[in-house]
Amino acid sequence: MNEFELIQHFFTRSACAQGGENISLGIGDDCALLQIPAGQSCAVSTDTLVSGIHFPDNAPAFLLGQRALAVAVSDLAAMGATPIGFTLAITLPQIDADWLQAFSAGLSAMALSCGIGLVGGDTTRGPLAIGVTVMGAVPPQQALLRSGAQVGDLLCVSGPLGAAAAAVPLVLGQVDEHSMTGDTAEQLLAAYWSPQPQLKLGQYLLGQASAALDISDGLLADCGHIAKASHVCLQIQQAQVPVAEAALQLLGESAALQCALSGGDDYQLAFTIAASAVAQLQQHFPSVQVIGQVISGTGVQVVDNNGQPIQQPHRGYQHFE
Ligand code: ADP
Ligand code: MG
Repeated sequence: MNEFELIQHFFTRSACAQGGENISLGIGDDCALLQIPAGQSCAVSTDTLVSGIHFPDNAPAFLLGQRALAVAVSDLAAMGATPIGFTLAITLPQIDADWLQAFSAGLSAMALSCGIGLVGGDTTRGPLAIGVTVMGAVPPQQALLRSGAQVGDLLCVSGPLGAAAAAVPLVLGQVDEHSMTGDTAEQLLAAYWSPQPQLKLGQYLLGQASAALDISDGLLADCGHIAKASHVCLQIQQAQVPVAEAALQLLGESAALQCALSGGDDYQLAFTIAASAVAQLQQHFPSVQVIGQVISGTGVQVVDNNGQPIQQPHRGYQHFE
């Protein structure tokens, strides 16, 4: 099988590449053509996953396909954008038909659940790496930036945190999933491998949230980005941070809380919003939780129930550090 047969077989014919709303031309020409609805902007974001850095060399291909797309689409959700299309730059050590079939199926499963179509890409030989570029549409005046947080706004997260970070020893095979009771291992692995981009929430927050992002590097690190871009301080009440049940089961309260604060990969949204908008928001999205507030100052501050600062040893993951 040569490069073009591979593309044809595993990507052009895959379920995720069968067109979609606002895709005028998909895979096969020099460029794809996307239609951006009148008055909207094209939101674009890229994520790369490298074998041995972002996932273990023997990671299951289906799950990898799911996750590679989910982490990229999550950036569209964080902007309030509606997905249109994505491209896939894949570097493969060899042509392994079973692997490619499973990868393409995982990619398609996530693509269908997010309403996004594969419109092109690039296929090369080398150490396994996956680059996904997503494109969507968003009204530019309402797009959810990191820079709009206002003193007095509340700080919210879209759901429980810490499960994906708690899953890492399982993903790396350092802990045997059969040693765990109930469906704890299943829940943790699902959080890691198939995070659900918060697209509906992101779109709902257009014109409502003053700032937003998706939590990829850890709550504290990512809230730091909003604080810096908005020139404010985000104060987090530690007791209000929703810790994922499966992480609590596996690790106990203290270590699970560390995962929720500093672990990454959950892809929930963190956002700031006027206090008056929260009640109605929570009616539509019951898992949204208020975890703190925006105050004047800089950086991120974690406080106890008495408002006393709690020192945080680990803040989040950074390449090259
Ligand atoms: P070019 O040489 O013009 O860059 P290629 O020969 O690399 O084009 O690719 C041919 C077509 O197949 C293009 O439309 C490209 O977008 C698409 N393509 C290549 N690799 C992939 C892939 N992994 N997934 C989806 N589409 C791909
Ligand atoms: Mg090319």
